[in-house]
Amino acid sequence: MHDLSIDLETLGTRPNAPIVAIGAVMFDRETGEIGDEFYAPIKLSSALQHGTVCPHSLKWWFTQSEKAQAVFISPDAMELRDALLELSTLIVRHSETIRPWGNGSTFDISILEHAYDVVGLEVPWLFWNVRDMRTIVDAAGAIGLDRDSIPFAGTEHNALDDARHQARVIAACWKELAASPPTVMSSTSLNSALVLKYCELTNRDPMGIQAVSSSEGWIESTFYQVAERELQAMFAAQAALALTSKT
Ligand SMILES: [Mg+2]
Repeated sequence: MHDLSIDLETLGTRPNAPIVAIGAVMFDRETGEIGDEFYAPIKLSSALQHGTVCPHSLKWWFTQSEKAQAVFISPDAMELRDALLELSTLIVRHSETIRPWGNGSTFDISILEHAYDVVGLEVPWLFWNVRDMRTIVDAAGAIGLDRDSIPFAGTEHNALDDARHQARVIAACWKELAASPPTVMSSTSLNSALVLKYCELTNRDPMGIQAVSSSEGWIESTFYQVAERELQAMFAAQAALALTSKT
C-alpha cells in the first residue's frame, strides 16, 4: 500500500496550529482496503509548547461532542516528538514513496510538516507525493458522486475515525472517476463559434454566471462553460445512439 490517510485534530488552522491528535491509516486507493492504523493523542502541554492556539478553534471545540472532546483527557497522550517519530516509523516501514492524503491542500499535511520541523525531525515523505482529498471529492462530485452518501462510522473529529472515513471517501471518488466514460470531445476541441451560437439560440449571455450548490459550497460556471458541457453531452448521446443503431 502506498496511500496514507492522515487526519489531525488541532487547536488552530494555520501551519503552526497545536496538534492534539494524529490519526493515520494505510489504504489502497483503488480497492478501499484499509491496512495499518496509527493513533496518537498528544499531551496538551506538548501541543501548546509547539504551536499557537487560534481562539476560533478553541471555541469550536466547546461545541463538539463529549466523545470528541475526550482527546484532551486521554490517558494515552504522548509527547508530540514521540508521536511524530512513531508515525515516521510506520511510514518508513511501508515505502519511501508513500502518498500522504490530507483534507485540503494546506491543512493536515502543512501542519504536520511544520511540526516535524519544529521538533527537529525529517518529514517522512517526498513533497511531490502529497495528495489532497478535497480536490478529488470536487472532481468526483462534478460527475455525480455525493460524498455525503458515504456513511461515517465512529466519532466525528476523532482523528482515527476521521482518517478511516477519509480513506473510504478517497477510494469511492477514485472508483467513480475510474468508471466515468471518457469525454467524447474535449472542451478545447469544441468550436467556439458553435458554443456561442448555442448560447444565442438558448438565450444565454456567454459571460453570465450560473451557481450550483454542492456539498463543498457553491460552484460558479459561466454559461459558456455550461453550454460547452451540454453540447458535449449531446454529441456523446448522438455518438452512443449511432453506435447502438449499427449493432
Ligand atoms: Mg478530524
